[in-house]
Amino acid sequence: RAHLDRIAAVDGDVHAFLHVSDRALDVAADIDRRRAAREELGELAGVPLAVKDVLVTTDMPSTSGSKILEGYMSPYDATVVARSRAAGLVPLGKTNMDEFAMGSSTEHSAYGPTRNPWDLGRIPGGSGGGSAAAVAAFEAPLALGSDTGGSIRQPAHVTGTVGVKPTYGGVSRYGAIALASSLDQVGPVTRTVLDAGLLHDVIGGHDVHDATSLPDAWPSFAEAAREGARGDVLKGLRIGVVKELPDSGFQPGVAASFRESLARLEAQGAEIVEISAPHFEYAVAAYYLILPAEASSNLAKFDSVRFGMRLDVPGGTVEDVMSATRDAGFGPEVKRRIILGTYALSAGYYDAYYGSAQKVRTLIQRDFDQAFRSVDVVATPSAPTTAFRIGEKIDDPLSMYLNDLTTIPANLAGVPGISVPSGLAAEDGLPVGIQFLAPAREDARLYRVGAALE
Ligand code: GLN
Repeated sequence: RAHLDRIAAVDGDVHAFLHVSDRALDVAADIDRRRAAREELGELAGVPLAVKDVLVTTDMPSTSGSKILEGYMSPYDATVVARSRAAGLVPLGKTNMDEFAMGSSTEHSAYGPTRNPWDLGRIPGGSGGGSAAAVAAFEAPLALGSDTGGSIRQPAHVTGTVGVKPTYGGVSRYGAIALASSLDQVGPVTRTVLDAGLLHDVIGGHDVHDATSLPDAWPSFAEAAREGARGDVLKGLRIGVVKELPDSGFQPGVAASFRESLARLEAQGAEIVEISAPHFEYAVAAYYLILPAEASSNLAKFDSVRFGMRLDVPGGTVEDVMSATRDAGFGPEVKRRIILGTYALSAGYYDAYYGSAQKVRTLIQRDFDQAFRSVDVVATPSAPTTAFRIGEKIDDPLSMYLNDLTTIPANLAGVPGISVPSGLAAEDGLPVGIQFLAPAREDARLYRVGAALE
């Protein structure tokens, strides 16, 4: 009830939610009854959960921030939602996002922007700005997000929250409306590293419904966070810093906060090692070919027949109906990426664009393989700047894309990443995050380091 009251009080300004559940109190009352009956319940039973609208739910609409899916009701729950319900978490509502998770500011939502609770004139990051803002504004203690190129970690960075992109295949994507299937991962957005670990333990692990889901047995990430908080885990830990990412590429307060965090880690016994990742600088260019290519294919299913909106075109052909619906249903950023993607995939240009981008992707994976021979984790600032002003980058797609400089390499390589708050930038007093990256399947390391820094 406290969280629903908080939503009622602040969400008119923040606009983190697209839909607030009308069942949350009933679900919570049911948990209370089960607790009273001494039923064995998990650690998160009864805790409210905000759910990014990219994840389908049976009891609330799922729009992925798009008009084309306005009011869409799914016949099934995403696996992460089903597992959350089974653990007794209480879905509070669906959170705002850039349309089909394309963006870094949540300004590309068809339902209006979300505002950063730290400064309502600024963006909360994207695409999962709604989930991060809900957690930062105390509207929800925990949230689920999705991260294809940074959409969990960059919003966490600009809102002072914790965001985790798990190893590719570590968390089921069944029921996550696909953006780019070789990059997408679902993960937690929370206020502490331990909270993220607790939620990751609930949603993670093998799922027969997702063919890319890893069959591994995972350690407890909550336990890893608890170990980190007890200290000692930093002794002898080798933390790599990428020499091709010079301070000059970052806002001064972001670079300063990063250096301070490294100094704190060093003071607790970590060893800071310079590493080379020479292909990181091509990550944004490769990503913005691979992502639109995959997205253009994934979005072909929104054809006015199978899902969502259908416009009437009197006397028109099937193609006229599809074309009119897609024209009215998709926003400008989605159209831009469909055109980019279909162009990059067209026969004559395949080698020049998509084929080259895939080769760059392999080189970035090798950079990571090489780096992880000499270090345990890699650290970078989570994003180049603090929260920018609403409207500042909306007409300049390239400068919007450059926000993803440090988050994208993890998605291209399939490795896990965490963004942990590292302080406030001196020049504007806004939150800054530090990102840690680990080898695939070593998510537990991120929880140890993140909790030790916290
Ligand atoms: N900024 C990235 C993009 O626009 C984020 C995508 C994501 O992680 N969903 O593609």
